[in-house]
Amino acid sequence: MKPIQQLLHGAHFDISAAKIEQLPTDTGIEIAFAGRSNAGKSSALNAITDQKKLARTSKTPGRTQLINVFGLDPERRLVDLPGYGFAKVPQAVKKQWQALLDDYLNQRTSLKGLILLMDIRHPMKEFDATMLEWAHHRNMPVHILLTKADKLKRGPAKSTLLGLRRDLAEYQPLFSVQLFSALKKQGLPDLHQKLTEWFQLEPPAPKPEDS
Ligand code: GDP
Repeated sequence: MKPIQQLLHGAHFDISAAKIEQLPTDTGIEIAFAGRSNAGKSSALNAITDQKKLARTSKTPGRTQLINVFGLDPERRLVDLPGYGFAKVPQAVKKQWQALLDDYLNQRTSLKGLILLMDIRHPMKEFDATMLEWAHHRNMPVHILLTKADKLKRGPAKSTLLGLRRDLAEYQPLFSVQLFSALKKQGLPDLHQKLTEWFQLEPPAPKPEDS
């Protein structure tokens, strides 16, 4: 098993935070998962950690407004950010979690990369564009998962992937995109590679011209 898999499989729930002051000490490396609600974030977290109930896939509104932290080792954490776009929630509550998300993104120094999940059938909605704008402004790496890739045939899935890559070409290497399916466990090696890099588990591979 690769070091990243070992690390991910050992993930354990740490804390649900309603305020950023409740988060663990801001040291080490944090990778945050963000996406519109129903994008497949909980399913992806469960798939990569190989734990069926780590991030509950239920839609309990109370829980989805919080930042959920999963510890991997003393220096590394996965962070489940509040899902955006829960239609049935009052405006005041939406504002509250928008503020929590803003605080987290703007203040958390251990945040080293964002995994942005988009349902492959509805990519690049307003929330996604806003997140990418923010990330570009802050020079924050973003790796996009086009989720539920099993819902499309190979051809249309590939053309959505290539289309988005083309649209984001000018932002490489800050932004990257891949296909993902929690259901079929598709796309895990690419995601492992990205997380290995961001969590600094292995030295970066030498560039071709160096070898
Ligand atoms: P979240 O709101 O972003 O945490 O999304 P969930 O992980 O709860 O998933 C939302 C819905 O999409 C659920 O009904 C899941 O079963 C479904 N779903 C998630 N991932 C996949 C996938 O890879 N393939 C398919 N077909 N459905 C998925």
